[in-house]
Amino acid sequence: MRLQVVTAVTALAATSACQSRWSRDVDYKALSKMFSSSVKIYYPGSGNFEGASSRWSNLDISTVNIVVVPSTENDVVETVKFADKKKLPFLAYNSAHGAITTLGKMTRGIEIYMDQLSRVDVTKDGKTVTIAGGTKSKLVTDTLWNAGKQTVAGACECASYLSPGLGGGHGWLQGRHGLIADQFESMNIVVAKGTLATINSSPELWWAAKGPGHNFGIVTSVTSEIFDIEHKDWAIKIITFKGDKVEELYDAANKHLLKNGTQPADVISRSYWFNDPDADASNKASRPSTPPILPPSTPWTPSLSKRREAATPTSPNRKKAYEFFAENIRGSSVFNNWLVTFDGYSMQGVQSIGAKSTAFAFRDQNIPIGPLITYMPGGAELDDKAAKLGKQLRQILDEGSGREHAPAYVNYAFGDEGPK
Ligand SMILES: Cc1cc2nc3c(=O)[nH]c(=O)nc-3n(C[C@H](O)[C@H](O)[C@H](O)COP(=O)(O)OP(=O)(O)OC[C@H]3O[C@@H](n4cnc5c(N)ncnc54)[C@H](O)[C@@H]3O)c2cc1C
Repeated sequence: MRLQVVTAVTALAATSACQSRWSRDVDYKALSKMFSSSVKIYYPGSGNFEGASSRWSNLDISTVNIVVVPSTENDVVETVKFADKKKLPFLAYNSAHGAITTLGKMTRGIEIYMDQLSRVDVTKDGKTVTIAGGTKSKLVTDTLWNAGKQTVAGACECASYLSPGLGGGHGWLQGRHGLIADQFESMNIVVAKGTLATINSSPELWWAAKGPGHNFGIVTSVTSEIFDIEHKDWAIKIITFKGDKVEELYDAANKHLLKNGTQPADVISRSYWFNDPDADASNKASRPSTPPILPPSTPWTPSLSKRREAATPTSPNRKKAYEFFAENIRGSSVFNNWLVTFDGYSMQGVQSIGAKSTAFAFRDQNIPIGPLITYMPGGAELDDKAAKLGKQLRQILDEGSGREHAPAYVNYAFGDEGPK
């Protein structure tokens, strides 16, 4: 125990020394002269630095040596130009929910924290909205709602609007209008050399920005299509079932509700597998945990967690997958907070858009699935074990779909799937 503590402290000291030496070697004063007056710069060791560089997932996180918080798009331009000149890696941080393991490949460099670039401006004709690059989903939904408008935004209010969108972007309204990216009409983007460009329907970059968009530049703002709110009311019903109902439940849901991905555009069904000791202790086979509710005039943007995609697996495989999951979360397993999420979004809007019109892949897939394994840090061996479990679950589900390999939604990807 004692040895472990000493090792950890030594490693921390070595990292801090390394970071501050690295920071001293680069003349950041030259960079700060180029900035607007409200830019913020955080160095390692400060509380602001810690806050701005921490991430939602601890797995394979990036290491950064300085945080620049731009307040204008020109601040982004100057930072990227500086990084290019000094041959320094740089990475945009938005709300830092991205959990792909390739982020860990950044072992030094400049974080460009988008937090101050937060604005939502509805255009005068009421047909579009311009959203700054660091705006959170919640601000977009709330601002539009107050103006009697809405657009497709991610289901989670705490993630940014743009980062899910650059990967395609699933959300509540996709059954009507398509993905978040399908609403984009133009964007301002700072590319690798630090050039600011406005792009819209013509260049190839426009095609590429919608799907694997995070790879091609830093988007400082986007203009998206908006719609009048047609239905102000919505309802939600949450029902908890015990694991022995898994086959029956999905068969019934598929037959009566989801209809193999052809449910009505306004019906969304999500299911979660997780360890609920209370439900296990109860002898009831199922229990409604909330009454149906119909609150008027409220946008709904709850927080959810998920990763990775596969198609609808057949029910024997769903049962096999469930049993594999249940076996690995039982009792005092370190993985007993494992959550598997099935996002049964409606697909009409997404599938009405030509597959080749954007780089977003797999428009034909119905249910993004996320085997999100949460556990206390315990070293590389435990990380490998968790990764192996996730892959095994994915494989079981995939075998049931009859495909050769799982198509991955880039925003849920683990990082080992390869570019294709
Ligand atoms: C709790 C939770 C809920 C989620 N809900 C949804 C959902 O409803 N729908 C959905 O589709 N996905 C969802 N996801 C997945 C989500 O799309 C990704 O995790 C996404 O990367 C998170 O966005 P972020 O702003 O936190 O990104 P960050 O982690 O800050 O960034 C992720 C990547 O995007 C890049 N990036 C960030 N901002 C910009 C920018 N302005 N220009 C260019 N590149 C940029 C970063 O450099 C990084 O590579 C969810 C994830 C979590 C953890």
